[in-house]
Amino acid sequence: MLKGKTALVTGSTSGIGLGIALTLARQGTNVVLNGFGDTEGPRQEVEAAGQAHGIKVGYHGADMSKPAEIEAMMAYIDKDFGGCDILVNNAGIQFVANVDEFPVDRWDAIIAINLTSAFHTMRLALPGMKQRHWGRIVNIASTHGLVASAGKSAYVAAKHGLIGLTKSAALETATLPVTVNAICPGWVLTPLVQKQIDTRATKEGIEVAEAKRQLLAEKQPSLQFTTPEELGALTVFLCSDEAVNVRGQAWAMDGGWTAQ
Ligand code: NAD
Repeated sequence: MLKGKTALVTGSTSGIGLGIALTLARQGTNVVLNGFGDTEGPRQEVEAAGQAHGIKVGYHGADMSKPAEIEAMMAYIDKDFGGCDILVNNAGIQFVANVDEFPVDRWDAIIAINLTSAFHTMRLALPGMKQRHWGRIVNIASTHGLVASAGKSAYVAAKHGLIGLTKSAALETATLPVTVNAICPGWVLTPLVQKQIDTRATKEGIEVAEAKRQLLAEKQPSLQFTTPEELGALTVFLCSDEAVNVRGQAWAMDGGWTAQ
């Protein structure tokens, strides 16, 4: 179904983005990776996942806080892949501090990477999707797009904003074969969350395993982490023809977190 389409997954050198890139590659989707750190390892993994379909894998190192670099990435996809059919806005960072102590540069970076970057990729991808009469946009928000936690004001503001952006764009494209939705994961054990577990362990003088248990027990009734593979499967569903009437949704996959 998604064979031969091209997906851009931002922030896909690690964690959830890499999981989604791998799932799409297994469907035969060409994938453009983006993100920092080791790029060769993730690229080889994604190539191997899509090998049976002979997919094409690309990489662009755009810093998602820099609009000019995002423009260059979207131009690269248009030129080398004939356009972006599936856009997964996933790149994100976290910083934890109370509002009156929140470093201004961290606020600006979180809003730029977790929210504004999605506006830029969407404004640049939508014209091609409309022209080719097919498109899927999946914004990786968070339970923190639906409810808040103390100490995460910038992240919560950005993720609530991302869901708002998703709804507006979904209404603007409601009669077109282009859909826009958000996914709201609960805790997923990625480097972004491992950092928070390690900080908790150090602060409270407890074992990392106990910090992990406490983190889940506090918010996620299933007491299990959501996995990148599960999020990849939901992304594939949202990209399917059967999901054409799922529009403007913020779909939680959070072990019951937001049911409380
Ligand atoms: P991660 O730290 O494992 O991965 C983040 C990715 O974003 C990496 O590839 C990194 O290189 C990239 N990135 C960071 N800054 C960037 C920038 N300026 N430009 C380009 N790429 C950049 O984190 P993750 O947990 O996989 O998070 C991915 C997304 O999922 C984020 O938007 C996050 O908010 C969201 N999310 C995560 C969880 C969780 O529990 N892990 C829960 C809900 C939502």
